[in-house]
Amino acid sequence: MLPGVSRSADIAIIGAGIVGLATAVALSERHPRARLVVLDKEPRVAAHQTGHNSGVIHSGIYYKPGSHKARLCVDGARLMTEFCDARGIAYERCGKVIVATDETEVPRLEALHERGTANGVPGLRLLSGDEVREHEPHCRAVRGLLSPATGIVDYGKVAEAMAKLVVERGGGILTGARVTAIPRAGAERILETTAGPVGARHLINCAGLHSDAVARLMGLRPEVQIIPFRGEYYVIRPARRFLVRNLIYPVPDPAFPFLGLHFTRTIHGEMEAGPNAVLAFAREGYRLATVRPGEMLGTLAYPGFWNIVRRHWRMGSYEMWRSLSKAAFVRSLQRLVPEIRPGDIERGGAGVRAQAVAPDGALVDDFTITVAEGAIHVLNAPSPAATASLAIGRHIAGLAAEHFGL
Ligand SMILES: Cc1cc2nc3c(=O)[nH]c(=O)nc-3n(C[C@H](O)[C@H](O)[C@H](O)COP(=O)(O)OP(=O)(O)OC[C@H]3O[C@@H](n4cnc5c(N)ncnc54)[C@H](O)[C@@H]3O)c2cc1C
Repeated sequence: MLPGVSRSADIAIIGAGIVGLATAVALSERHPRARLVVLDKEPRVAAHQTGHNSGVIHSGIYYKPGSHKARLCVDGARLMTEFCDARGIAYERCGKVIVATDETEVPRLEALHERGTANGVPGLRLLSGDEVREHEPHCRAVRGLLSPATGIVDYGKVAEAMAKLVVERGGGILTGARVTAIPRAGAERILETTAGPVGARHLINCAGLHSDAVARLMGLRPEVQIIPFRGEYYVIRPARRFLVRNLIYPVPDPAFPFLGLHFTRTIHGEMEAGPNAVLAFAREGYRLATVRPGEMLGTLAYPGFWNIVRRHWRMGSYEMWRSLSKAAFVRSLQRLVPEIRPGDIERGGAGVRAQAVAPDGALVDDFTITVAEGAIHVLNAPSPAATASLAIGRHIAGLAAEHFGL
């Protein structure tokens, strides 16, 4: 134990979101004798992206064949349902339809079918408009793609179960511990935190919206920077929930990594519409009015941000307008379900996506996990990283075995 450090670990994971916790689950299985600790700045686990998402267990349709996303989503979806079965967590394989609302979208829908099939997604089937309405009677569609394997779950509950499992296996979860500095001390690192210092031989950075900032604390200069994109939801009033049975998604715009406004039934029985994708003025900016000047300046000082503005100003302005205007939001939803009316929905919650952006303004598409400065850094883990978390955890445990000499 280092002088002045009351706690020490072989491996410390920064971030008790679903990626950090799934990594701890995988490491505790693979190295049962390693002393593990997961730290989080919040008083509870899953306080950010993991606790503010659509709760969909994606099947793996959208992602480029051979990418981390494609492989880890398909494997992760299977591991996720196995984990839920083993730990008694409610989930449902309710299926979803992606719908083409006019003929121009059909080629992209067919391309998704091919992509999903290449990725090994089970049971995908192209539907006619009438077949779509057998599944979703109120949906407007000329064609559809049915994904029967898609499911729903509460990822906050999954993360709590992962934390419990880590503790059962002898690991530690230290909440209320914001990591503020990471100096070296010989072969170890000291994590200076708001809950006191923690010594660790090896570090894994799973800090989500702050992963680039945490990497910088370790002396790394990541090529990418996190830009926060808020996703806002509306909820459908109970009397109008009959308009949607399960999950209805549009054909996404290939220029963006976001899936477009969709309808999602939650495992708790609510029906949500959203999320949009609006630039947030704080990394944890769940509301439009939340502004953190330091974080905003960090965004404004990044050339990648101005390159996004240059590339996507039209779409960005429209998203901002749709965030302010319920009528515009409803018009987007009416493309999928024409009967939906402004009075049928009320504002719900929001989540903020940690989206890594390259200096040229490209929104990094694939998961980015790098080994540098003797540590592992998860620098981009947007959707479907909740679905893929257990597979990502195994992948990171493999990297740890290789690079940490465990
Ligand atoms: C609106 C929205 C909808 C989504 N829908 C889906 C979906 O349906 N299906 C799906 O698979 N994925 C979905 N996602 C993506 C998914 O939620 C994320 O990919 C996943 O939760 C990322 O997990 P994480 O552990 O990397 O990040 P997080 O859950 O954000 O965890 C990171 C943790 O690090 C902690 N932290 C940060 N800095 C520090 C520090 N300095 N010291 C200590 N702790 C720190 C934070 O407090 C946080 O708890 C969605 C995301 C959003 C925002």
